[in-house]
Amino acid sequence: MWQGVRIPQTRPSTGRRKPPVCPHGAGNVGSSRPPIETVPACGHREWEPDSLFDHLQKRRAALAPGGVFKVAVVRPWGDPRQALEALTRDGRLVRLRRGWYRLPDADPVVVRAVASGGVLACVSALAFAGVWVPDAGGIHARPARGDVPLDFDVLRCGVNRRLPAPRSAVDPVPVALRAAAGCLAGEALIAAMDSAVDGGFVRRADLPTILAYAPGRAARLAAQSRWAQSGTETLIRVRLARRHLRVATQVVIPGVGRVDMMVGERLVLEADSLAHHADEGSYRRDRGRDLRLAQLGFRVVRLTWEQVMFEWDLVEETILSLVGDGEHRWRRDTPNPANRA
Ligand SMILES: [Zn+2]
Repeated sequence: MWQGVRIPQTRPSTGRRKPPVCPHGAGNVGSSRPPIETVPACGHREWEPDSLFDHLQKRRAALAPGGVFKVAVVRPWGDPRQALEALTRDGRLVRLRRGWYRLPDADPVVVRAVASGGVLACVSALAFAGVWVPDAGGIHARPARGDVPLDFDVLRCGVNRRLPAPRSAVDPVPVALRAAAGCLAGEALIAAMDSAVDGGFVRRADLPTILAYAPGRAARLAAQSRWAQSGTETLIRVRLARRHLRVATQVVIPGVGRVDMMVGERLVLEADSLAHHADEGSYRRDRGRDLRLAQLGFRVVRLTWEQVMFEWDLVEETILSLVGDGEHRWRRDTPNPANRA
């Protein structure tokens, strides 16, 4: 059942660990490059301050997400203690707490989560990755080690969700999704799942497994995940489904292209989000599409993020009224363009 899941797990030591490969090619088989770490007479390898700093900067996304790293990630390639001391002295690194440091331009939210005793998790880790989530309402974190308490100003998440031990300052998306099952309401969790799939962070087929230890509610919600280009679009789809409206997503209309949602046969709903429609080119393109849809006899309702988030009652009333008037079906005076002679 766990096959193919990309949640990092801590593997028990087998006593036969492969020797770490030096990131600079030093000492690797077939390498002609000289070692960057100094090798004292005792044979004890140590990091040079400059090479440690460069290494962290170059591999920031993998080793120091948000500009914060755990010392353990650089230890396999040499003892970093003296280099860390030197870098802290000259101000290039700042020690946040035991075993954790920050680079000069670190993300303040990640810094706060780590300084509080945890790592960035749950809704905040999803937002950090660019996954759509509603306003997080604070910094969501989970303990970096064991069950230690966190500072009072961060939200403690992911407890009792059988999450793997944190390996970096920011939880990866699959782990964050599992923690978020406890913090997000149903429709927001579906929107986050849709967005994570759309962003290529997880596969839709893996969602039920990722949420396997989440409450039964979350696993059921995973089945409702569909292709959507924005969180707003997911919220509209889920809310209309609750009113028993048949809503198809990402429907292709010949001569127009893909529309966000289709209620029934001809009521088109387009969800505008700032990320997708902020520039002037998109604005013109969208209006051109609206005109073409109207020519073909489709009814178009374009909704903004604010309308969906703060004026939903009005939006729902309008759509239900259009459906009540039969605007979602082809009629004798507006037949389906596909069937027109
Ligand atoms: Zn949370």
